Amino acid sequence: MSNESYYVAVVGAGPAGMFAARELARNGVRVVIFNRDIKPGGLAEYGIYPDKFAMKEGLRTQFRQALETPGLTYFGNITIGASGDLHLDDLRALGFQAILVTAGAQGTKWLSLPGEHLTGVYHAKGLVYHYNQLPPYSKEEFHFGKRSAVVGAGNVMLDIARYLIQKIKVDEVVAVVRRGPAEVKFDKKEMEYVVANLDLRALDEEFTRVAPVMQAIGQDVEASKTIILEALPKGMPATSRTRFRFEFLASPVQILSDDKDLVTGLEVEDNILSVKDGEVKARGTGNKRVIKVDSVVFAIGDKVDDSFGLPTAGSEFVKNLKPRFPIEGISYEAFDPETSLPIEGVFFAGWSRQASTGLVGYARKDGTNGAKAVLQYLQTLKPVVPDEAALSGRLKKLGKSVVTQSDVRKLAELESEEAHKRGLESFKFGTNEEMLEKIMSVG
Ligand SMILES: Cc1cc2nc3c(=O)[nH]c(=O)nc-3n(C[C@H](O)[C@H](O)[C@H](O)COP(=O)(O)OP(=O)(O)OC[C@H]3O[C@@H](n4cnc5c(N)ncnc54)[C@H](O)[C@@H]3O)c2cc1C
Repeated sequence: MSNESYYVAVVGAGPAGMFAARELARNGVRVVIFNRDIKPGGLAEYGIYPDKFAMKEGLRTQFRQALETPGLTYFGNITIGASGDLHLDDLRALGFQAILVTAGAQGTKWLSLPGEHLTGVYHAKGLVYHYNQLPPYSKEEFHFGKRSAVVGAGNVMLDIARYLIQKIKVDEVVAVVRRGPAEVKFDKKEMEYVVANLDLRALDEEFTRVAPVMQAIGQDVEASKTIILEALPKGMPATSRTRFRFEFLASPVQILSDDKDLVTGLEVEDNILSVKDGEVKARGTGNKRVIKVDSVVFAIGDKVDDSFGLPTAGSEFVKNLKPRFPIEGISYEAFDPETSLPIEGVFFAGWSRQASTGLVGYARKDGTNGAKAVLQYLQTLKPVVPDEAALSGRLKKLGKSVVTQSDVRKLAELESEEAHKRGLESFKFGTNEEMLEKIMSVG
């Protein structure tokens, strides 16, 4: 039997990477996944709200099964990129014929406002990684006082609100939304977790305040209110006395602090709305006011890691706009705007292709389609004999622990035993050192 096959590196083991790798391996490709984290799962493990036990466990099972696909190898605790353990050129030198980047969107978007550096001002990503126990964020300290602003209008804003309401139990959470109630992006299902804490009188007052702006562009005020309140009948009972309210049509301007550098408020500018090319836009009125809070969390989306070593523009990696291997009309191919040429053999999928877009199901489909684009590209090449000895030699030289499929299985068993012992639904070791030590302890 020939040892020849195509040889592909997948960077990242979130939903996109896992399903891409499985698709490639099922088509006879030798696939190696390199993952920054010890565990696979990406944001399914470290983003999705921790109390969604059944969803998370279901996904973990699917990922563990995907890892068993013949022809697929997993190396966790290995970061790829310009400042990583291995560069893209290292992967090329090791003989990989294509590299599929499914590293998510690891950069953070800030608005560059005065006061963003203050203690008590956070980006959602850091907080989400913290409460989901991703090292090293698991050990970081977050300071919340009594009143928190969460800037954003999507599901991540609601996850942060949920955490502040149910776990931190602050007195008040204010969702600060740039546009109006008709433009919110969250799902009813996510609202159900926090709707019992929603201050309905404050919501009525807020709708009365913003109604003239909505009506000026022909929006139906009552219909928007109904959509937000649709979550009420199935709402989860309140577990704290936190008051949750919205401030619509407000763009953050600066974070104010006292002489001890403690946050005292979020200054916002009021907005009006206009419609351009069918899209509702917010425009500042010049009127500024202060929302009294002692912490601010920005849940305004992520961008890709612009230190990864591939060209970026805005929040995204640059893609080939005239793809050679489009799938459903989408380009998965990397492009170098300096040379105006595709970057040979480099592809993106999932949140690395389009930052902060879609749920796990979407990332799964995008990963699979990204793999299909790679499979088409491979048809232009000849199979090789993958030099696995060269790869293991290179990994050994890194002088760090590399986590394998069987280590992932062991860790899952150890954490499940620990959860059982402690009477918890789920348990995670909070540092890489602890995880590695536990894996080693069972040999
Ligand atoms: C707060 C939050 C809550 C969410 N809740 C839900 C929900 O309830 N339900 C739902 O369906 N979806 C939810 N999502 C969306 C879902 O998590 C994403 O759609 C999905 O995880 C994106 O998958 P991905 O594989 O593209 O990226 P990611 O999941 O981000 O995976 C990226 C992977 O790449 C690895 N990586 C990063 N950089 C490198 C590197 N340089 N080298 C090697 N590896 C690297 C990471 O370790 C990670 O394993 C949520 C997202 C967030 C942010």
